[in-house]
Amino acid sequence: MRGKILVLLALWLLTAGASAPVRMTPVKITDGVYMFQHSQGSGNSTVVITNDGVLVLDFHIDNADQTLAGIRKLTDKKVKYLISSHSAGDHASGAWHFREDKPIYIATRNQIHDLRMQELEEFNERKNSNDPRYAGYKARELVFPDLGFDGNMTLYFGGLTFQITAEGRGHSTGDLTVYIPQKRVMLMGDLLDTEIHPGQGESAGVFFSNVKGWIQILDNIMARNLPVDTYVPGHGPAHIGRGVKDLEEQKRYFVVMRDEVAKMIAAGKSLDQIEKEFKIPQEFAHYTRPARLRQFYKLFYNQLMETGY
Ligand SMILES: [Zn+2]
Repeated sequence: MRGKILVLLALWLLTAGASAPVRMTPVKITDGVYMFQHSQGSGNSTVVITNDGVLVLDFHIDNADQTLAGIRKLTDKKVKYLISSHSAGDHASGAWHFREDKPIYIATRNQIHDLRMQELEEFNERKNSNDPRYAGYKARELVFPDLGFDGNMTLYFGGLTFQITAEGRGHSTGDLTVYIPQKRVMLMGDLLDTEIHPGQGESAGVFFSNVKGWIQILDNIMARNLPVDTYVPGHGPAHIGRGVKDLEEQKRYFVVMRDEVAKMIAAGKSLDQIEKEFKIPQEFAHYTRPARLRQFYKLFYNQLMETGY
Protein backbone atom coordinates (compact mmCIF):
# COMPACT_ATOMS: atom_id res chain seq x y z
CA MET A 1 0.00 0.00 0.00
CA ARG A 2 2.74 2.36 1.02
CA GLY A 3 4.65 1.55 -2.18
CA LYS A 4 1.53 2.30 -4.19
CA ILE A 5 1.13 5.66 -2.51
CA LEU A 6 4.78 6.48 -3.18
CA VAL A 7 4.36 5.57 -6.85
CA LEU A 8 1.25 7.76 -7.06
CA LEU A 9 3.09 10.58 -5.34
CA ALA A 10 6.00 10.26 -7.75
CA LEU A 11 3.58 10.32 -10.71
CA TRP A 12 1.81 13.35 -9.31
CA LEU A 13 5.11 15.15 -8.86
CA LEU A 14 6.13 14.29 -12.42
CA THR A 15 2.88 15.60 -13.90
CA ALA A 16 2.93 18.65 -11.68
CA GLY A 17 6.49 19.30 -12.86
CA ALA A 18 5.48 18.97 -16.51
CA SER A 19 2.65 21.45 -16.17
CA ALA A 20 4.37 23.82 -13.75
CA PRO A 21 2.96 27.30 -14.27
CA VAL A 22 4.99 29.68 -16.39
CA ARG A 23 6.84 32.33 -14.44
CA MET A 24 8.19 35.60 -15.81
CA THR A 25 11.13 36.46 -13.57
CA PRO A 26 12.65 39.94 -13.69
CA VAL A 27 16.41 40.05 -14.24
CA LYS A 28 18.11 43.43 -13.90
CA ILE A 29 20.20 44.15 -17.00
CA THR A 30 21.27 47.64 -15.92
CA ASP A 31 19.66 50.58 -14.06
CA GLY A 32 16.04 50.83 -15.18
CA VAL A 33 16.24 47.91 -17.63
CA TYR A 34 14.77 44.54 -16.67
CA MET A 35 14.34 41.40 -18.73
CA PHE A 36 11.42 39.27 -17.57
CA GLN A 37 12.69 35.79 -18.36
CA HIS A 38 10.22 33.08 -19.34
CA SER A 39 10.71 30.06 -17.06
CA GLN A 40 10.26 27.53 -19.88
CA GLY A 41 12.34 29.17 -22.59
CA SER A 42 9.49 30.86 -24.44
CA GLY A 43 9.51 34.60 -25.26
CA ASN A 44 11.07 37.07 -22.81
CA SER A 45 9.71 40.59 -22.17
CA THR A 46 11.96 43.59 -21.59
CA VAL A 47 10.96 46.62 -19.56
CA VAL A 48 12.64 50.05 -19.58
CA ILE A 49 11.68 52.34 -16.69
CA THR A 50 12.19 56.10 -17.08
CA ASN A 51 11.09 59.17 -15.08
CA ASP A 52 8.37 59.77 -17.66
CA GLY A 53 6.99 56.24 -17.77
CA VAL A 54 7.70 52.70 -18.90
CA LEU A 55 8.39 51.08 -22.27
CA VAL A 56 7.76 47.33 -22.75
CA LEU A 57 9.14 45.17 -25.55
CA ASP A 58 7.25 41.92 -26.26
CA PHE A 59 4.21 40.47 -24.46
CA HIS A 60 2.32 37.19 -24.64
CA ILE A 61 -1.36 37.10 -23.79
CA ASP A 62 -0.64 34.16 -21.45
CA ASN A 63 1.90 35.90 -19.26
CA ALA A 64 2.09 39.68 -19.88
CA ASP A 65 -0.12 40.10 -16.79
CA GLN A 66 2.88 38.84 -14.81
CA THR A 67 5.14 41.36 -16.53
CA LEU A 68 2.69 44.15 -15.68
CA ALA A 69 2.47 43.00 -12.04
CA GLY A 70 6.29 43.02 -11.94
CA ILE A 71 6.36 46.57 -13.34
CA ARG A 72 3.88 47.73 -10.68
CA LYS A 73 6.29 46.45 -8.01
CA LEU A 74 9.23 48.33 -9.54
CA THR A 75 7.61 51.70 -10.26
CA ASP A 76 4.42 53.75 -9.97
CA LYS A 77 4.93 55.11 -13.51
CA LYS A 78 2.48 54.20 -16.26
CA VAL A 79 3.31 52.08 -19.29
CA LYS A 80 3.58 54.66 -22.08
CA TYR A 81 4.99 52.66 -25.00
CA LEU A 82 4.74 49.09 -26.23
CA ILE A 83 6.92 47.61 -28.97
CA SER A 84 6.70 44.09 -30.36
CA SER A 85 9.83 42.66 -31.97
CA HIS A 86 7.81 40.55 -34.46
CA SER A 87 4.34 39.13 -34.96
CA ALA A 88 4.66 35.73 -33.23
CA GLY A 89 2.17 35.15 -30.42
CA ASP A 90 4.86 34.91 -27.73
CA HIS A 91 5.93 38.48 -28.56
CA ALA A 92 2.93 40.34 -29.96
CA SER A 93 -0.30 38.89 -28.55
CA GLY A 94 -0.40 40.46 -25.07
CA ALA A 95 -0.82 44.25 -25.52
CA TRP A 96 -4.35 43.88 -24.06
CA HIS A 97 -2.93 43.53 -20.53
CA PHE A 98 -1.60 47.11 -20.56
CA ARG A 99 -4.84 48.78 -21.75
CA GLU A 100 -5.51 50.65 -18.50
CA ASP A 101 -2.35 52.74 -19.01
CA LYS A 102 -3.33 53.57 -22.64
CA PRO A 103 0.15 53.04 -24.11
CA ILE A 104 1.14 53.75 -27.72
CA TYR A 105 1.98 50.48 -29.47
CA ILE A 106 4.71 50.56 -32.15
CA ALA A 107 5.52 47.81 -34.68
CA THR A 108 6.88 47.38 -38.20
CA ARG A 109 4.36 47.36 -41.03
CA ASN A 110 5.18 43.77 -41.97
CA GLN A 111 4.29 42.75 -38.40
CA ILE A 112 0.95 44.50 -38.64
CA HIS A 113 0.28 42.64 -41.88
CA ASP A 114 1.08 39.30 -40.21
CA LEU A 115 -1.01 40.15 -37.15
CA ARG A 116 -4.03 40.90 -39.32
CA MET A 117 -3.52 38.07 -41.82
CA GLN A 118 -2.54 35.25 -39.46
CA GLU A 119 -2.30 35.97 -35.80
CA LEU A 120 -5.83 37.34 -35.39
CA GLU A 121 -7.38 34.15 -36.73
CA GLU A 122 -5.26 31.97 -34.46
CA PHE A 123 -5.99 34.21 -31.50
CA ASN A 124 -9.74 33.98 -32.07
CA GLU A 125 -9.64 30.22 -32.64
CA ARG A 126 -7.88 29.79 -29.31
CA LYS A 127 -10.23 32.23 -27.62
CA ASN A 128 -13.22 30.15 -28.77
CA SER A 129 -11.65 26.77 -28.00
CA ASN A 130 -12.27 24.77 -24.84
CA ASP A 131 -8.69 23.51 -24.72
CA PRO A 132 -7.40 24.37 -21.23
CA ARG A 133 -4.02 25.32 -22.74
CA TYR A 134 -5.72 28.37 -24.25
CA ALA A 135 -7.53 29.53 -21.11
CA GLY A 136 -5.40 32.70 -21.27
CA TYR A 137 -7.20 33.84 -24.43
CA LYS A 138 -10.73 33.85 -22.97
CA ALA A 139 -12.46 37.23 -22.81
CA ARG A 140 -9.36 38.95 -24.16
CA GLU A 141 -8.62 40.68 -27.45
CA LEU A 142 -5.71 40.86 -29.87
CA VAL A 143 -4.74 44.53 -29.74
CA PHE A 144 -3.20 45.99 -32.90
CA PRO A 145 -0.36 48.54 -33.05
CA ASP A 146 -1.05 52.28 -33.19
CA LEU A 147 2.05 53.14 -35.22
CA GLY A 148 3.54 51.16 -38.10
CA PHE A 149 6.84 51.94 -39.77
CA ASP A 150 9.41 50.67 -42.28
CA GLY A 151 13.14 51.27 -41.94
CA ASN A 152 14.13 53.22 -38.82
CA MET A 153 12.36 55.13 -36.13
CA THR A 154 13.87 57.08 -33.22
CA LEU A 155 11.81 57.55 -30.10
CA TYR A 156 12.97 60.15 -27.55
CA PHE A 157 11.37 59.27 -24.26
CA GLY A 158 12.26 59.75 -20.61
CA GLY A 159 15.67 61.21 -21.44
CA LEU A 160 16.58 58.11 -23.48
CA THR A 161 17.04 57.49 -27.19
CA PHE A 162 15.34 54.37 -28.54
CA GLN A 163 16.78 53.61 -31.95
CA ILE A 164 14.24 51.19 -33.44
CA THR A 165 15.39 49.36 -36.58
CA ALA A 166 13.46 47.05 -38.88
CA GLU A 167 16.26 44.59 -39.59
CA GLY A 168 14.65 42.78 -42.54
CA ARG A 169 13.82 39.14 -43.10
CA GLY A 170 15.74 36.68 -40.95
CA HIS A 171 13.96 35.06 -38.07
CA SER A 172 10.52 36.25 -39.19
CA THR A 173 9.21 38.40 -42.05
CA GLY A 174 11.04 41.16 -40.20
CA ASP A 175 12.17 41.50 -36.59
CA LEU A 176 12.97 44.89 -35.19
CA THR A 177 15.74 45.72 -32.71
CA VAL A 178 15.82 48.51 -30.12
CA TYR A 179 19.16 50.11 -29.28
CA ILE A 180 19.34 52.39 -26.22
CA PRO A 181 22.76 54.10 -26.24
CA GLN A 182 22.41 55.65 -22.76
CA LYS A 183 21.91 52.15 -21.30
CA ARG A 184 24.45 50.36 -23.52
CA VAL A 185 21.84 47.70 -24.35
CA MET A 186 20.24 46.44 -27.52
CA LEU A 187 17.01 44.47 -27.42
CA MET A 188 17.28 41.80 -30.09
CA GLY A 189 13.90 40.05 -30.16
CA ASP A 190 14.30 36.55 -31.59
CA LEU A 191 17.29 37.50 -33.73
CA LEU A 192 19.22 36.40 -30.62
CA ASP A 193 18.40 33.28 -28.62
CA THR A 194 20.86 32.16 -25.93
CA GLU A 195 21.61 28.60 -24.75
CA ILE A 196 18.57 27.39 -26.67
CA HIS A 197 18.01 26.18 -30.23
CA PRO A 198 16.38 29.07 -32.11
CA GLY A 199 12.78 28.71 -33.18
CA GLN A 200 11.51 29.11 -36.70
CA GLY A 201 9.87 32.49 -37.09
CA GLU A 202 6.21 31.60 -36.91
CA SER A 203 2.94 33.45 -36.88
CA ALA A 204 -0.13 31.26 -36.50
CA GLY A 205 1.49 28.19 -38.06
CA VAL A 206 3.09 30.03 -41.02
CA PHE A 207 6.90 29.67 -40.91
CA PHE A 208 9.15 32.45 -42.12
CA SER A 209 12.79 32.01 -41.07
CA ASN A 210 15.53 32.47 -43.62
CA VAL A 211 19.03 31.40 -42.58
CA LYS A 212 20.89 33.54 -45.10
CA GLY A 213 18.91 36.62 -44.06
CA TRP A 214 19.44 35.85 -40.37
CA ILE A 215 23.24 35.59 -40.79
CA GLN A 216 23.21 38.79 -42.86
CA ILE A 217 21.28 40.69 -40.18
CA LEU A 218 23.71 39.56 -37.46
CA ASP A 219 26.57 40.72 -39.71
CA ASN A 220 24.83 44.07 -40.26
CA ILE A 221 24.40 44.63 -36.54
CA MET A 222 27.99 43.61 -35.73
CA ALA A 223 29.27 45.93 -38.47
CA ARG A 224 27.73 48.88 -36.57
CA ASN A 225 30.34 48.28 -33.82
CA LEU A 226 27.93 49.72 -31.27
CA PRO A 227 28.92 50.55 -27.70
CA VAL A 228 26.72 47.81 -26.22
CA ASP A 229 27.38 45.84 -23.04
CA THR A 230 24.40 43.49 -23.31
CA TYR A 231 22.38 42.22 -26.24
CA VAL A 232 19.09 41.13 -24.68
CA PRO A 233 17.74 37.85 -26.15
CA GLY A 234 14.18 36.99 -27.21
CA HIS A 235 14.55 33.53 -25.65
CA GLY A 236 17.00 32.23 -23.05
CA PRO A 237 18.96 33.97 -20.30
CA ALA A 238 20.58 37.39 -20.70
CA HIS A 239 24.39 37.29 -20.67
CA ILE A 240 25.02 40.59 -18.93
CA GLY A 241 28.18 42.29 -20.17
CA ARG A 242 29.02 39.60 -22.75
CA GLY A 243 28.50 42.10 -25.55
CA VAL A 244 29.12 41.15 -29.15
CA LYS A 245 30.26 37.62 -28.25
CA ASP A 246 26.58 36.64 -28.04
CA LEU A 247 26.00 37.78 -31.63
CA GLU A 248 29.16 36.01 -32.79
CA GLU A 249 27.94 32.78 -31.17
CA GLN A 250 24.48 33.11 -32.73
CA LYS A 251 26.01 33.62 -36.17
CA ARG A 252 28.43 30.75 -35.69
CA TYR A 253 25.51 28.50 -34.73
CA PHE A 254 23.87 28.97 -38.11
CA VAL A 255 27.13 28.71 -40.06
CA VAL A 256 28.20 25.49 -38.26
CA MET A 257 24.77 23.84 -38.31
CA ARG A 258 24.27 24.61 -42.00
CA ASP A 259 27.74 23.23 -42.72
CA GLU A 260 26.87 19.97 -40.94
CA VAL A 261 23.67 19.61 -42.98
CA ALA A 262 25.62 20.40 -46.17
CA LYS A 263 28.14 17.64 -45.37
CA MET A 264 25.30 15.15 -44.99
CA ILE A 265 23.79 16.25 -48.31
CA ALA A 266 27.22 15.79 -49.93
CA ALA A 267 27.30 12.28 -48.47
CA GLY A 268 24.01 11.55 -50.27
CA LYS A 269 21.68 11.74 -47.26
CA SER A 270 17.98 12.53 -47.68
CA LEU A 271 16.13 15.02 -45.49
CA ASP A 272 14.57 12.07 -43.68
CA GLN A 273 17.99 10.60 -42.92
CA ILE A 274 19.35 13.98 -41.85
CA GLU A 275 16.47 14.41 -39.38
CA LYS A 276 17.21 10.97 -37.90
CA GLU A 277 21.01 10.93 -37.96
CA PHE A 278 22.03 14.56 -37.33
CA LYS A 279 24.47 14.93 -34.44
CA ILE A 280 24.46 18.30 -32.69
CA PRO A 281 28.04 19.63 -32.63
CA GLN A 282 29.67 19.63 -29.19
CA GLU A 283 29.74 23.42 -28.84
CA PHE A 284 25.93 23.58 -29.05
CA ALA A 285 25.19 20.31 -27.22
CA HIS A 286 24.15 22.17 -24.05
CA TYR A 287 21.46 24.19 -25.86
CA THR A 288 17.93 23.42 -24.62
CA ARG A 289 14.80 22.53 -26.62
CA PRO A 290 16.42 20.41 -29.37
CA ALA A 291 12.90 19.61 -30.63
CA ARG A 292 12.95 23.06 -32.23
CA LEU A 293 15.63 21.79 -34.62
CA ARG A 294 13.06 19.76 -36.51
CA GLN A 295 11.83 22.78 -38.49
CA PHE A 296 15.39 23.90 -39.07
CA TYR A 297 16.61 20.64 -40.69
CA LYS A 298 13.95 21.23 -43.32
CA LEU A 299 14.96 24.86 -43.67
CA PHE A 300 18.73 24.22 -43.94
CA TYR A 301 18.10 21.37 -46.35
CA ASN A 302 15.66 23.17 -48.63
CA GLN A 303 17.63 26.40 -48.71
CA LEU A 304 20.83 24.49 -49.53
CA MET A 305 19.04 22.57 -52.30
CA GLU A 306 17.35 25.68 -53.73
CA THR A 307 20.17 28.21 -53.70
CA GLY A 308 23.15 26.79 -51.85
CA TYR A 309 22.85 29.08 -48.84
ZN1 LIG B 1 9.85 33.89 -29.80
